[in-house]
Amino acid sequence: MVDAEPLDAVVIGAGFAGLYMVYRLREQGFSVQGFERGDGVGGTWYWNRYPGARCDSEIMFYSFSFLPDLEQEWPLTERYPGQPDILRYLEEVASRLDLRKDFTFGAEVTALEFDEAAGRWTLRTAQGHQVTARYVVTAVGCLSTANQPRFPGADSFRGLTLHTGNWPREPVDLAAQRVAVIGTGASGIQAIPVIAERAAHLTVFQRTAQFTIPAENGPLDDQFVALWKQNYPEWRRRARHSPAGFAYNPSITSAFEVSAAERRAAFEAAWGAGGFTFLSGTFRDLALDEEANETAADFVRSKIDEIVRDPEVAEMLKPRDFPIGTKRLPLDTNYYETFNRPNVTLVDLKRTPVEEITPAGIRTSAGHHDLDVIVYATGFDALTGPLEALGIRGRGGRSLRDAWREGPRTYLGVAVPGFPNLFTITGPGSPSVLSNMPVSIEQHVEWIGDCLAWARGHGAKVIEATEQAAAGWTDHVQQVAGHTLHPKAASWYMGANIPGKPRIFLPYIGGVGNYRDRCAAVAANGYEGFVTSGEGSGDHGARPGDHRAA
Ligand SMILES: Cc1cc2nc3c(=O)[nH]c(=O)nc-3n(C[C@H](O)[C@H](O)[C@H](O)COP(=O)(O)OP(=O)(O)OC[C@H]3O[C@@H](n4cnc5c(N)ncnc54)[C@H](O)[C@@H]3O)c2cc1C
Repeated sequence: MVDAEPLDAVVIGAGFAGLYMVYRLREQGFSVQGFERGDGVGGTWYWNRYPGARCDSEIMFYSFSFLPDLEQEWPLTERYPGQPDILRYLEEVASRLDLRKDFTFGAEVTALEFDEAAGRWTLRTAQGHQVTARYVVTAVGCLSTANQPRFPGADSFRGLTLHTGNWPREPVDLAAQRVAVIGTGASGIQAIPVIAERAAHLTVFQRTAQFTIPAENGPLDDQFVALWKQNYPEWRRRARHSPAGFAYNPSITSAFEVSAAERRAAFEAAWGAGGFTFLSGTFRDLALDEEANETAADFVRSKIDEIVRDPEVAEMLKPRDFPIGTKRLPLDTNYYETFNRPNVTLVDLKRTPVEEITPAGIRTSAGHHDLDVIVYATGFDALTGPLEALGIRGRGGRSLRDAWREGPRTYLGVAVPGFPNLFTITGPGSPSVLSNMPVSIEQHVEWIGDCLAWARGHGAKVIEATEQAAAGWTDHVQQVAGHTLHPKAASWYMGANIPGKPRIFLPYIGGVGNYRDRCAAVAANGYEGFVTSGEGSGDHGARPGDHRAA
């Protein structure tokens, strides 16, 4: 499995990002090979097959913009597409662009080592593949390394253990089963209502109560779809230059410019309409001002009281310890309603923590729960996890894990000093998970493709972000986050869900449109903030202007 002929580029991952990157580089005349640990394309939508798995981006925005024929032909069936639909979409993309032949599937990348003399990377997989390539582009996703908490006795459980982020491909029959879901983040909130309908009994183990907003999913009107498709290029243009990759207009009104009754009416209307505009479309200061935020949080808590019949359960479901929107805001279908079902029990792990997992179930400080199935909906080691798992070693044999011991340092979230010729699609320090991701993925893929073409055109064999540019950008990312309420939450955006992970705000919250402009300016200025050198010379000569960035 050793490939003797060096490639121009390797791409790791076959989700939205990897598919487009391989296509783009191939079209640009680079020799490129993709590696994917799964047996097929789809990324997130290949792995997350749990009951209720669904996109929270509306279907009109959750697709590629560079395939105008497919854009017109693809049916926009319901407001939020389910996992099977998105997987089918990505399989169709792979077929139309004949991409599978350029990927090696079932290949988990475990080592990437940079040879400074040759100016090339060597990639190795757990399955024994080895290739060398000038460039590495990671398309490993932000949410692809499952977070599996280690409870004492977990291996002793005699029933079925599942993780939402690594759900079996074959259907799992939950009928007549006593099921536990551990975790109430976005995945748990999607899965819980559906599992409750199928299982004999569902016990929800909640560590942190969550705000969630109704999705109001449903079929899309034919006329709406026709009109949307007529105007697709304009919607796409707006999404690219928006704060979060959607073509919605954010509110320009403060929560305190209106009366309490008007404020409630605005929240009520947004709640009824469903979706993320509950925050961005109502008042402009909800993400910035604690008092303003509290008005939205209070509204959701009042809805929990309205919906949940048992006052004690309602109280347990009310989030109190973080501002609304500072953890990933889930969208739901009947989440709070599910706790009115006779076959659902809520366990508050803050009051009664898990003591151990036993062969027959879960023991908390309050007693034992007999179970047949345990579902971990415990999320991911977000953003840095999938990158650090690649076994990357850059200049001087330094590992990425070591370079990021205090938190990730990147230039624009796309490059890392000390790791030349390595590009990270939706890496930490880019809008990534704070955006509608296909928009951010397209922007990175196109920017990286242009950058590699520029390097080729200039005879540069090594291109690398400078320390100074990365330091400037990393500070900027933290500064912008510091103007918002986000750092106040113990969220996965802050690395807080993983024991020992540095607490640093991981994505860039400065907005998709602003970020795009910044990246475009860097390119227009001859990739300022990067240095280049010639073929394997080890000459790490700077070009004029390389320290101006950030
Ligand atoms: C449940 C869920 C719901 C989501 N909902 C939304 C949403 O509503 N809107 C939105 O914009 N985004 C959403 N996301 C984020 C979603 O991940 C992105 O929208 C998008 O699918 C990311 O595409 P990607 O190609 O960057 O990464 P992924 O789809 O994660 O693909 C990465 C691929 O890399 C592979 N890989 C990783 N490491 C290795 C390795 N070492 N070796 C080989 N292969 C490797 C993985 O197997 C995976 O197939 C959601 C994510 C989850 C988990």
